[in-house]
Formats: sequence, C-alpha cells, structure tokens
Amino acid sequence: MKKLSGLIAALLVLTLAFTGCSSNTGSEDTSSEGATTAAAESGIPDKLIVGTNAEFPPFEFVNDDGEYDGFDIALMQAVCDKIGCEMEVSNMEFKSLLGAMQLNSIDVIAAAMTVTEDRKQSVDFSESYYEAKQVIIVDKDSDIASFSDLDGLKIGVQEGTTGDLFVTPGEDGALVQNAEVKRFKKGVDAVMDLKNGGVDAVVIDKNPATEFVSSNEDTLKIVEDDAAKEEYAYAVAKGNTELADAINQAVEELKADGTYDALVKEYINE
Ligand code: GLN
Repeated sequence: MKKLSGLIAALLVLTLAFTGCSSNTGSEDTSSEGATTAAAESGIPDKLIVGTNAEFPPFEFVNDDGEYDGFDIALMQAVCDKIGCEMEVSNMEFKSLLGAMQLNSIDVIAAAMTVTEDRKQSVDFSESYYEAKQVIIVDKDSDIASFSDLDGLKIGVQEGTTGDLFVTPGEDGALVQNAEVKRFKKGVDAVMDLKNGGVDAVVIDKNPATEFVSSNEDTLKIVEDDAAKEEYAYAVAKGNTELADAINQAVEELKADGTYDALVKEYINE
C-alpha cells in the first residue's frame, strides 16, 4: 500500500511537471488552441504585447468604459485576428516605447509612431499605414503662419516626439533653430499650458491637434505647414522580419476588404 501510494505520488509529480511545461506554451487555454498552433508554426507569439501611449486620440486613448481604444488599437486588434494571436496593450509614456522594445517587454509599438532614420537604428518598421503631419496650435488671433515664424518663441511639445525634434535646435530635420522648448509628458498638457499663456505655440501631430482644439475652438486654432509631413508605421524588434511581414500582409488584406477604410472613417474621419 505504501509502495502504491508512493507510485501514485510520483505519477502525480510527473503529470504536474508536464502540465507545467505545456502551460508555458499556452496550450492550457483551449480557446486559444488555434493561435497556439499558428504561433508554433510561425514563431509569432500567442499573445502580442502592444506598446502604446493611450493619450493620443484618435489613434490611442482610454474610452468611457475604461478600455484602450483608438485607430491603432482597433487596427492592431484586426491584425491580431488575422495573424491568429491574442493582443494585450501595455500603456506607457511615448518616450519609453523604444526602450521597452529593446528590453523585449513589448512585441509591437502601435502609437502613431513616425518613421525616422534615428528610430530605424533601434527598431524595424512595418510598411507605413498612415500619412500624418506636424501642425502648430496657436491662439486664435496669432499671426504665426509657418514653422519659420516660431524662431525665438517658447514652444510646447510632447517629449520625445517628432514635434519635439522639429523645434529642437541641432536635431536632424529641425525646422526651427532657436526656440525655447518646453517638454510635456502628454500633448494635452502642452495645450493646457498654451491656453494658460505658458508657451506661444504647441507643435504636435495633426489629428490629435484637431481633437485637442475642438474643445477650445473659441480660443485656439491650427496652423498647417507642408514642410512637416511624415508617415506612421508599427515598430517591431530589430530583425523580427517575420512579425513585420505578418503585420504588413494583414494590413494589406484589411485594406483590400474595406476594414482599414471603415476604421479611418470611424476614428479619424478627416
Ligand atoms: N508621431 C509622433 C512621433 O512619432 C508622435 C507620436 C505620439 O506622441 N504618440 O514622434
């Protein structure tokens, strides 16, 4: 009897050990079995950790139900549905995203991130999925009409963004050479500072600017300058061509079947 119970105990330990191993690959969750199989074949993780900064409407924000939402989140969810993986959002400051990717704590950056030569040194980008632009937000009665008018002024930007680079003297592609730059963690805080007279202008992406100004239309306006056009793309770890290719193919299919246009209409609606 003692021997038998010893044997049962040993079998139990073995069984637990095997269950433990297999749960690492996610096979415990039968609902994601399809994703697990696809992942095993393709090397793409069962669950894609998507890094973002959910303070950037209409591309990423927290909706009234407290959920991550926005064009990037919805498009990336549709991409994950095509690839056959789950998706989890990891929300952080914009300037922390590239570092998080290098530490392997996220798989993709979906954050209205502009493709730049500098960022290409640390991540690989998907094909571009959206043409964007930096704009200038000013007081409604301001005479500022282009980036060249910003010289010598105090400019608010969101830290670590292309808006920051455009107005920071000495940076590659800087459009303003001697402004005083005030950096904020959130674009909306820069806009608040403009309203309070702390800065003379804010440089930020056009679609978020439109959202921020729409609630202040009696006091603020947007100035556009074609010098500041740029492209958004999703970023993956350097060398992860498999994931970049899978994202590219999925986005292409979502463009062909009308999903992409429907999301543009739902979220951006220019
Ligand atoms: N497009 C800008 C950049 O890539 C800003 C993005 C953002 O703040 N989410 O720097």
